[in-house]
Amino acid sequence: MTNPREVQLKSRPVGWPTHDDFALVESAPTDLADGQVRVRNEVMSVDPYMRGRMSDAKSYAEPYALGEAMHGGAVGVVTESRADGIAVGDHVLHGLGWREEAVVDGSAVRVVDTSVAPASAYLGVLGMTGLTAYAGLTRVAGLKEGDVVFVSGAAGAVGSVVGQVAKALGASRVIGSAGSQEKVDHLLNDLGFDAAFNYKDGRVSDLLREAAPDGIDVYFDNVGGDHLEAAVGSLRLGGRIAICGAISVYNNTEAAPGPRNLARLIQTRGTITGFLVGDHWDLAGEYAQRAAGWIADGTLTSRETFSDGIDHAVDAFLGVLRGENVGKMLVRL
Ligand code: NDP
Repeated sequence: MTNPREVQLKSRPVGWPTHDDFALVESAPTDLADGQVRVRNEVMSVDPYMRGRMSDAKSYAEPYALGEAMHGGAVGVVTESRADGIAVGDHVLHGLGWREEAVVDGSAVRVVDTSVAPASAYLGVLGMTGLTAYAGLTRVAGLKEGDVVFVSGAAGAVGSVVGQVAKALGASRVIGSAGSQEKVDHLLNDLGFDAAFNYKDGRVSDLLREAAPDGIDVYFDNVGGDHLEAAVGSLRLGGRIAICGAISVYNNTEAAPGPRNLARLIQTRGTITGFLVGDHWDLAGEYAQRAAGWIADGTLTSRETFSDGIDHAVDAFLGVLRGENVGKMLVRL
Protein backbone atom coordinates (compact mmCIF):
# COMPACT_ATOMS: atom_id res chain seq x y z
CA MET A 1 0.00 0.00 0.00
CA THR A 2 1.33 3.46 -0.82
CA ASN A 3 1.45 6.13 1.84
CA PRO A 4 -0.82 9.17 1.65
CA ARG A 5 0.54 11.94 -0.55
CA GLU A 6 1.06 15.64 0.08
CA VAL A 7 2.00 18.67 -2.00
CA GLN A 8 5.16 20.39 -0.84
CA LEU A 9 6.63 23.73 -1.85
CA LYS A 10 9.92 22.97 -3.61
CA SER A 11 11.07 26.44 -4.62
CA ARG A 12 9.87 30.00 -4.15
CA PRO A 13 8.12 31.25 -7.29
CA VAL A 14 9.28 34.48 -8.90
CA GLY A 15 6.32 35.97 -10.76
CA TRP A 16 3.75 33.34 -11.74
CA PRO A 17 4.18 29.99 -9.93
CA THR A 18 4.77 26.92 -12.13
CA HIS A 19 4.40 23.19 -11.51
CA ASP A 20 8.18 23.02 -10.99
CA ASP A 21 7.78 25.00 -7.75
CA PHE A 22 5.87 22.09 -6.17
CA ALA A 23 6.44 18.41 -5.49
CA LEU A 24 3.85 15.68 -4.90
CA VAL A 25 5.44 13.25 -2.44
CA GLU A 26 4.45 10.35 -0.21
CA SER A 27 4.38 11.29 3.45
CA ALA A 28 6.15 9.25 6.11
CA PRO A 29 3.84 7.04 8.24
CA THR A 30 3.11 8.72 11.60
CA ASP A 31 1.75 7.19 14.81
CA LEU A 32 -0.79 9.21 16.78
CA ALA A 33 0.36 10.87 19.99
CA ASP A 34 -2.05 11.39 22.86
CA GLY A 35 -4.57 14.10 21.98
CA GLN A 36 -4.16 13.71 18.20
CA VAL A 37 -6.51 12.59 15.44
CA ARG A 38 -5.87 11.10 12.01
CA VAL A 39 -7.97 12.74 9.29
CA ARG A 40 -8.61 11.49 5.76
CA ASN A 41 -9.10 14.73 3.86
CA GLU A 42 -12.16 14.95 1.63
CA VAL A 43 -11.90 18.51 0.39
CA MET A 44 -9.19 21.16 0.61
CA SER A 45 -9.02 24.82 -0.15
CA VAL A 46 -6.84 26.64 -2.66
CA ASP A 47 -6.68 30.36 -1.90
CA PRO A 48 -5.08 33.41 -3.49
CA TYR A 49 -3.44 34.36 -0.15
CA MET A 50 -1.28 31.24 -0.46
CA ARG A 51 0.68 32.98 -3.20
CA GLY A 52 2.00 35.46 -0.62
CA ARG A 53 3.12 32.68 1.69
CA MET A 54 5.16 31.07 -1.10
CA SER A 55 7.51 34.06 -1.07
CA ASP A 56 10.10 34.58 1.62
CA ALA A 57 8.83 38.07 2.32
CA LYS A 58 7.67 39.68 5.52
CA SER A 59 3.91 39.40 5.53
CA TYR A 60 1.01 38.85 7.89
CA ALA A 61 1.39 35.07 7.61
CA GLU A 62 4.56 32.99 7.95
CA PRO A 63 6.14 32.01 4.62
CA TYR A 64 5.70 28.32 3.75
CA ALA A 65 8.78 26.26 4.56
CA LEU A 66 10.46 24.62 1.56
CA GLY A 67 10.10 20.84 1.60
CA GLU A 68 6.96 20.93 3.73
CA ALA A 69 3.33 20.39 2.83
CA MET A 70 1.38 23.52 1.98
CA HIS A 71 -0.80 24.48 4.93
CA GLY A 72 -4.35 25.70 4.39
CA GLY A 73 -7.97 24.90 5.11
CA ALA A 74 -9.18 21.31 4.67
CA VAL A 75 -12.08 19.18 5.86
CA GLY A 76 -11.92 15.41 6.29
CA VAL A 77 -13.22 12.48 8.24
CA VAL A 78 -11.53 11.21 11.39
CA THR A 79 -10.21 7.66 10.88
CA GLU A 80 -8.41 7.30 14.22
CA SER A 81 -8.68 9.35 17.40
CA ARG A 82 -6.74 9.75 20.62
CA ALA A 83 -8.43 13.08 21.37
CA ASP A 84 -11.21 13.45 23.91
CA GLY A 85 -14.51 14.50 22.37
CA ILE A 86 -13.57 13.65 18.77
CA ALA A 87 -14.80 10.32 17.44
CA VAL A 88 -13.93 8.22 14.43
CA GLY A 89 -16.37 9.26 11.71
CA ASP A 90 -16.54 12.91 12.79
CA HIS A 91 -15.86 15.51 10.11
CA VAL A 92 -13.30 18.12 11.13
CA LEU A 93 -11.96 21.37 9.74
CA HIS A 94 -8.21 21.88 10.15
CA GLY A 95 -5.38 23.98 8.77
CA LEU A 96 -2.87 21.39 7.59
CA GLY A 97 -3.86 21.77 3.97
CA TRP A 98 -2.68 20.03 0.85
CA ARG A 99 -2.37 16.38 1.87
CA GLU A 100 -4.48 13.27 1.59
CA GLU A 101 -4.13 12.52 5.29
CA ALA A 102 -3.41 14.77 8.26
CA VAL A 103 -2.27 13.93 11.78
CA VAL A 104 -3.32 16.88 13.89
CA ASP A 105 -3.90 17.89 17.50
CA GLY A 106 -7.52 17.61 18.54
CA SER A 107 -7.26 21.14 19.96
CA ALA A 108 -6.46 22.46 16.48
CA VAL A 109 -9.53 21.09 14.70
CA ARG A 110 -13.18 22.05 14.68
CA VAL A 111 -15.84 19.36 14.35
CA VAL A 112 -18.29 20.38 11.59
CA ASP A 113 -21.79 19.09 10.99
CA THR A 114 -22.07 17.71 7.46
CA SER A 115 -25.79 17.05 7.94
CA VAL A 116 -26.30 20.84 8.06
CA ALA A 117 -24.09 21.70 5.08
CA PRO A 118 -21.64 19.78 2.90
CA ALA A 119 -17.99 19.61 4.04
CA SER A 120 -16.99 22.07 1.29
CA ALA A 121 -19.25 24.83 2.69
CA TYR A 122 -17.06 25.06 5.80
CA LEU A 123 -14.19 26.16 3.55
CA GLY A 124 -16.37 28.63 1.66
CA VAL A 125 -19.64 30.35 2.41
CA LEU A 126 -19.78 29.07 6.01
CA GLY A 127 -16.05 29.34 6.60
CA MET A 128 -13.23 31.83 6.43
CA THR A 129 -14.43 33.08 3.04
CA GLY A 130 -17.89 34.01 4.22
CA LEU A 131 -16.60 35.63 7.38
CA THR A 132 -14.17 37.73 5.34
CA ALA A 133 -17.07 39.11 3.33
CA TYR A 134 -19.22 39.77 6.41
CA ALA A 135 -16.50 41.36 8.55
CA GLY A 136 -15.24 43.47 5.66
CA LEU A 137 -18.68 44.82 4.87
CA THR A 138 -20.14 45.31 8.31
CA ARG A 139 -17.19 46.19 10.53
CA VAL A 140 -14.51 47.52 8.19
CA ALA A 141 -16.67 49.33 5.63
CA GLY A 142 -19.45 50.10 8.13
CA LEU A 143 -22.19 49.24 5.64
CA LYS A 144 -25.33 51.33 6.13
CA GLU A 145 -28.81 50.89 4.73
CA GLY A 146 -29.13 52.61 1.38
CA ASP A 147 -25.40 52.43 0.53
CA VAL A 148 -24.32 51.89 -3.04
CA VAL A 149 -21.76 49.06 -2.90
CA PHE A 150 -19.15 48.06 -5.46
CA VAL A 151 -17.20 44.79 -5.16
CA SER A 152 -14.45 43.47 -7.42
CA GLY A 153 -13.70 39.78 -7.89
CA ALA A 154 -17.47 39.62 -7.55
CA ALA A 155 -17.98 36.12 -8.96
CA GLY A 156 -15.27 34.66 -6.72
CA ALA A 157 -15.63 33.11 -3.28
CA VAL A 158 -15.47 36.25 -1.14
CA GLY A 159 -16.95 38.64 -3.71
CA SER A 160 -20.08 36.60 -4.36
CA VAL A 161 -20.88 36.60 -0.64
CA VAL A 162 -20.14 40.33 -0.38
CA GLY A 163 -22.69 41.21 -3.06
CA GLN A 164 -25.47 39.06 -1.66
CA VAL A 165 -24.88 40.01 1.98
CA ALA A 166 -24.75 43.70 1.05
CA LYS A 167 -28.20 43.37 -0.51
CA ALA A 168 -29.49 41.44 2.50
CA LEU A 169 -28.25 44.21 4.80
CA GLY A 170 -30.01 46.94 2.89
CA ALA A 171 -27.63 48.23 0.23
CA SER A 172 -29.65 50.20 -2.30
CA ARG A 173 -27.54 49.10 -5.26
CA VAL A 174 -24.82 46.48 -5.63
CA ILE A 175 -22.38 46.53 -8.52
CA GLY A 176 -19.87 43.80 -9.30
CA SER A 177 -16.93 43.40 -11.65
CA ALA A 178 -15.63 40.11 -12.99
CA GLY A 179 -13.46 38.79 -15.80
CA SER A 180 -15.91 37.20 -18.25
CA GLN A 181 -19.40 37.61 -19.69
CA GLU A 182 -20.40 34.26 -18.16
CA LYS A 183 -19.48 35.60 -14.71
CA VAL A 184 -21.31 38.89 -15.35
CA ASP A 185 -24.43 36.93 -16.31
CA HIS A 186 -24.10 34.85 -13.14
CA LEU A 187 -23.94 38.00 -11.00
CA LEU A 188 -27.01 39.51 -12.64
CA ASN A 189 -29.13 36.38 -13.09
CA ASP A 190 -28.25 34.19 -10.10
CA LEU A 191 -26.83 36.42 -7.37
CA GLY A 192 -29.13 39.46 -7.52
CA PHE A 193 -26.53 42.11 -8.40
CA ASP A 194 -28.12 45.29 -9.77
CA ALA A 195 -25.31 45.92 -12.24
CA ALA A 196 -22.15 44.13 -13.31
CA PHE A 197 -19.40 44.57 -15.87
CA ASN A 198 -16.51 42.64 -17.38
CA TYR A 199 -13.41 44.63 -16.39
CA LYS A 200 -11.67 43.43 -19.56
CA ASP A 201 -14.20 45.34 -21.70
CA GLY A 202 -12.65 48.80 -21.21
CA ARG A 203 -11.24 51.18 -18.62
CA VAL A 204 -12.49 50.16 -15.18
CA SER A 205 -13.14 53.81 -14.26
CA ASP A 206 -15.41 54.27 -17.32
CA LEU A 207 -17.21 50.96 -16.74
CA LEU A 208 -17.79 51.78 -13.08
CA ARG A 209 -19.07 55.28 -13.84
CA GLU A 210 -21.54 53.79 -16.30
CA ALA A 211 -22.74 51.22 -13.73
CA ALA A 212 -22.88 53.72 -10.85
CA PRO A 213 -23.51 57.16 -12.39
CA ASP A 214 -24.18 58.73 -8.97
CA GLY A 215 -21.09 57.22 -7.35
CA ILE A 216 -20.51 54.60 -4.66
CA ASP A 217 -20.50 54.64 -0.86
CA VAL A 218 -18.61 51.40 -0.27
CA TYR A 219 -15.94 49.60 -2.27
CA PHE A 220 -14.93 46.08 -1.21
CA ASP A 221 -11.56 45.60 -2.91
CA ASN A 222 -10.36 42.13 -3.84
CA VAL A 223 -8.22 43.24 -6.76
CA GLY A 224 -6.26 46.50 -6.23
CA GLY A 225 -4.66 48.34 -9.18
CA ASP A 226 -7.02 50.00 -11.68
CA HIS A 227 -10.05 48.84 -9.72
CA LEU A 228 -8.94 50.70 -6.61
CA GLU A 229 -8.20 53.87 -8.53
CA ALA A 230 -11.60 53.66 -10.24
CA ALA A 231 -13.34 53.23 -6.87
CA VAL A 232 -11.56 56.24 -5.37
CA GLY A 233 -12.66 58.19 -8.44
CA SER A 234 -16.32 57.23 -7.90
CA LEU A 235 -16.42 57.61 -4.12
CA ARG A 236 -19.21 59.75 -2.68
CA LEU A 237 -19.05 61.93 0.43
CA GLY A 238 -18.10 59.78 3.43
CA GLY A 239 -17.30 56.78 1.23
CA ARG A 240 -15.46 53.77 2.70
CA ILE A 241 -13.08 51.41 0.97
CA ALA A 242 -12.24 48.08 2.60
CA ILE A 243 -9.05 46.54 1.22
CA CYS A 244 -9.43 42.78 1.38
CA GLY A 245 -7.07 41.65 -1.38
CA ALA A 246 -5.01 42.85 -4.32
CA ILE A 247 -4.93 39.85 -6.62
CA SER A 248 -3.97 41.94 -9.67
CA VAL A 249 -0.50 42.44 -8.18
CA TYR A 250 0.21 39.12 -6.41
CA ASN A 251 2.44 37.81 -9.20
CA ASN A 252 4.14 41.12 -9.98
CA THR A 253 7.91 41.10 -9.73
CA GLU A 254 8.06 44.86 -9.20
CA ALA A 255 5.95 47.17 -7.06
CA ALA A 256 3.02 48.65 -8.99
CA PRO A 257 2.04 52.31 -8.52
CA GLY A 258 -0.95 52.97 -6.28
CA PRO A 259 -4.03 55.07 -7.10
CA ARG A 260 -3.09 58.44 -8.62
CA ASN A 261 -6.21 60.15 -7.31
CA LEU A 262 -5.91 59.78 -3.53
CA ALA A 263 -6.43 63.52 -3.12
CA ARG A 264 -10.13 62.80 -3.78
CA LEU A 265 -10.27 61.37 -0.26
CA ILE A 266 -9.90 64.91 1.06
CA GLN A 267 -13.00 66.31 -0.57
CA THR A 268 -15.01 63.13 0.01
CA ARG A 269 -13.66 62.61 3.58
CA GLY A 270 -13.24 59.06 2.32
CA THR A 271 -11.36 56.28 4.08
CA ILE A 272 -9.36 53.29 2.91
CA THR A 273 -8.88 50.53 5.49
CA GLY A 274 -7.06 47.25 5.05
CA PHE A 275 -8.16 44.27 7.10
CA LEU A 276 -7.44 40.63 7.88
CA VAL A 277 -10.19 38.17 8.61
CA GLY A 278 -8.05 36.74 11.40
CA ASP A 279 -8.72 39.89 13.45
CA HIS A 280 -12.47 39.35 13.27
CA TRP A 281 -13.07 35.80 14.51
CA ASP A 282 -15.29 37.28 17.24
CA LEU A 283 -17.90 37.82 14.51
CA ALA A 284 -17.86 34.15 13.47
CA GLY A 285 -20.81 33.09 15.64
CA GLU A 286 -22.95 36.06 14.58
CA TYR A 287 -22.11 35.45 10.92
CA ALA A 288 -22.76 31.70 11.11
CA GLN A 289 -26.19 32.32 12.55
CA ARG A 290 -27.16 34.97 10.01
CA ALA A 291 -25.67 33.03 7.09
CA ALA A 292 -27.64 29.89 8.06
CA GLY A 293 -30.84 31.95 7.90
CA TRP A 294 -29.92 33.57 4.59
CA ILE A 295 -29.00 30.21 3.06
CA ALA A 296 -32.24 28.63 4.32
CA ASP A 297 -34.44 31.35 2.80
CA GLY A 298 -32.47 31.56 -0.46
CA THR A 299 -31.00 35.03 0.18
CA LEU A 300 -27.47 33.63 0.05
CA THR A 301 -26.46 31.06 -2.56
CA SER A 302 -23.01 29.79 -3.32
CA ARG A 303 -21.29 28.11 -6.22
CA GLU A 304 -18.18 25.95 -6.01
CA THR A 305 -15.65 24.93 -8.64
CA PHE A 306 -13.99 21.57 -7.99
CA SER A 307 -10.80 19.91 -9.18
CA ASP A 308 -10.47 16.22 -8.40
CA GLY A 309 -7.44 14.56 -6.84
CA ILE A 310 -4.41 15.86 -4.99
CA ASP A 311 -2.39 15.67 -8.21
CA HIS A 312 -4.57 18.55 -9.48
CA ALA A 313 -4.05 20.84 -6.47
CA VAL A 314 -1.47 22.98 -8.24
CA ASP A 315 -3.69 23.29 -11.34
CA ALA A 316 -6.56 24.36 -9.10
CA PHE A 317 -4.38 26.94 -7.38
CA LEU A 318 -3.12 28.36 -10.68
CA GLY A 319 -6.72 28.29 -11.88
CA VAL A 320 -7.93 30.51 -9.04
CA LEU A 321 -5.21 33.05 -9.84
CA ARG A 322 -6.26 33.00 -13.51
CA GLY A 323 -9.98 33.28 -12.78
CA GLU A 324 -11.03 29.76 -13.82
CA ASN A 325 -13.33 29.52 -10.78
CA VAL A 326 -16.89 30.63 -10.21
CA GLY A 327 -17.43 30.83 -6.46
CA LYS A 328 -15.08 28.93 -4.16
CA MET A 329 -12.24 26.93 -5.75
CA LEU A 330 -11.73 23.56 -4.05
CA VAL A 331 -9.96 20.27 -4.51
CA ARG A 332 -11.95 17.10 -3.88
CA LEU A 333 -9.98 14.07 -2.71
P1 NDP B 1 -11.63 34.29 -5.65
O1 NDP B 1 -12.56 33.14 -5.57
O2 NDP B 1 -12.21 35.65 -5.79
O3 NDP B 1 -10.62 34.00 -6.83
C1 NDP B 1 -9.76 34.98 -7.28
C2 NDP B 1 -10.41 35.73 -8.46
O4 NDP B 1 -9.63 36.89 -8.74
C3 NDP B 1 -10.37 34.94 -9.76
O5 NDP B 1 -11.47 34.09 -9.86
C4 NDP B 1 -10.36 36.04 -10.81
O6 NDP B 1 -11.68 36.24 -11.30
C5 NDP B 1 -9.89 37.29 -10.06
N1 NDP B 1 -8.69 37.85 -10.66
C6 NDP B 1 -7.51 37.23 -10.92
N2 NDP B 1 -6.63 38.10 -11.47
C7 NDP B 1 -7.28 39.29 -11.57
C8 NDP B 1 -6.91 40.58 -12.07
N3 NDP B 1 -5.69 40.82 -12.58
N4 NDP B 1 -7.83 41.57 -12.03
C9 NDP B 1 -9.07 41.34 -11.52
N5 NDP B 1 -9.48 40.15 -11.03
C10 NDP B 1 -8.59 39.14 -11.05
O7 NDP B 1 -10.67 34.27 -4.39
P2 NDP B 1 -11.09 34.54 -2.89
O8 NDP B 1 -12.51 34.88 -2.84
O9 NDP B 1 -10.59 33.43 -2.07
O10 NDP B 1 -10.23 35.83 -2.51
C11 NDP B 1 -10.59 37.10 -3.03
C12 NDP B 1 -9.58 38.13 -2.53
O11 NDP B 1 -9.68 38.25 -1.13
C13 NDP B 1 -8.13 37.77 -2.83
O12 NDP B 1 -7.45 38.94 -3.19
C14 NDP B 1 -7.63 37.22 -1.52
O13 NDP B 1 -6.24 37.34 -1.38
C15 NDP B 1 -8.41 38.09 -0.53
N6 NDP B 1 -8.62 37.53 0.79
C16 NDP B 1 -8.29 38.31 1.86
C17 NDP B 1 -8.56 37.93 3.14
C18 NDP B 1 -8.25 38.86 4.26
O14 NDP B 1 -8.30 38.44 5.42
N7 NDP B 1 -7.92 40.11 3.98
C19 NDP B 1 -9.17 36.60 3.42
C20 NDP B 1 -9.54 35.86 2.23
C21 NDP B 1 -9.26 36.32 0.96
P3 NDP B 1 -11.99 37.04 -12.68
O15 NDP B 1 -12.35 36.00 -13.68
O16 NDP B 1 -13.12 37.91 -12.29
O17 NDP B 1 -10.75 37.79 -13.08
